[in-house]
Amino acid sequence: MLDIASLKNLLNQPKKIVITTHHKPDGDAMGSSLGLYNYLIQQGHHTTVITPSDYPDFLTWMPGNEEVVIYTDNKERSAQLIAEADIVFCLDFNNLSRINEMGELVRAADAKKIMIDHHLEPEDFDDYRHWDINACAAAQLVHSFITDILDNKKLINKDVATCLYTGIMTDSGSFRLPNTTSSVHRVIADLIDAGAVNYRIHELVYNSASENRLRFLGHCLSSCLEILPEFNTALIVVNKQDLQKYDVNTGDTEGIVNYALSIASIRLAAFIVERDDKVKLSLRSKGDFPANEICKLYFSGGGHRNAAGGQSSASLQEVVNQLKQILPEYKKLLIQ
Ligand code: 5GP
Ligand code: MN
Repeated sequence: MLDIASLKNLLNQPKKIVITTHHKPDGDAMGSSLGLYNYLIQQGHHTTVITPSDYPDFLTWMPGNEEVVIYTDNKERSAQLIAEADIVFCLDFNNLSRINEMGELVRAADAKKIMIDHHLEPEDFDDYRHWDINACAAAQLVHSFITDILDNKKLINKDVATCLYTGIMTDSGSFRLPNTTSSVHRVIADLIDAGAVNYRIHELVYNSASENRLRFLGHCLSSCLEILPEFNTALIVVNKQDLQKYDVNTGDTEGIVNYALSIASIRLAAFIVERDDKVKLSLRSKGDFPANEICKLYFSGGGHRNAAGGQSSASLQEVVNQLKQILPEYKKLLIQ
């Protein structure tokens, strides 16, 4: 493990740096990565953000986005950048399986690996860890990494602030989830002071959908929603044909699960979608219901207590049945 002095020393001279984040990056994954990117380039580091997969269009407007390398489109170049890197930053994930094929490249790399993350149960692959499960976003931790650990608050410029604001906004559910503490609001105030234009960022992320996306949402709510009142649970189940019919792209399904959770009695909501090669689950819960436990125990996934995800190679119907069979075990927690 590196200590803070060695870490600062390492970052004192221009280095070759790769920043990576989890598969199918969300707002926090891209916001924290590009926030750190815009910080590091000011110090002359040769910095590249590599994502393991593509990401939604509503996240492509952030400063630095045009320089992002998508691994699946640029495997050779990505492998070379990782192999030659002095430092690899791992943001918003803590297990190398979350970056797919890239995981083994990062593991094998000579680079110092720095994890900045807020998920439970980190894997032991890193050389320095800025990790706090109470942080509402990895972007919040990038902010404290820059301000408290590196003591460089002055380098939080408009670009850095814009990206970090986006990460915190999206992972805190627009500042309404329980992890939105007063410290989070203080960080947000600093970011606005540093140039983040809050109302514009909300517009870019939340009011930039296609007509198809809205019609798909209508379809999900009218035809794919199933309520299980005895378990205070709501499911939205979407098959491959629906995805094709509405021309659903990466990111178009984001947030739909929250509509199921918006019903007063519902404590657990699941969005279950049939992708090309697997079934993906997104779980959301209220209060102390452990959505991540279900994902971890039954669906090769994980996440946070109130927002978790996983997957299965079984058929869509089998996954739905499996989840329904699991619910009785959690009945006490669901009906309290
Ligand atoms: P989403 O439902 O938006 O895909 O994911 C919600 C949260 O669940 C993510 O922030 C992440 O923490 C976690 N998550 C989603 N999918 C997976 C997965 O396949 N594996 C693990 N370990 N966590 C996941
Ligand atoms: Mn996050």
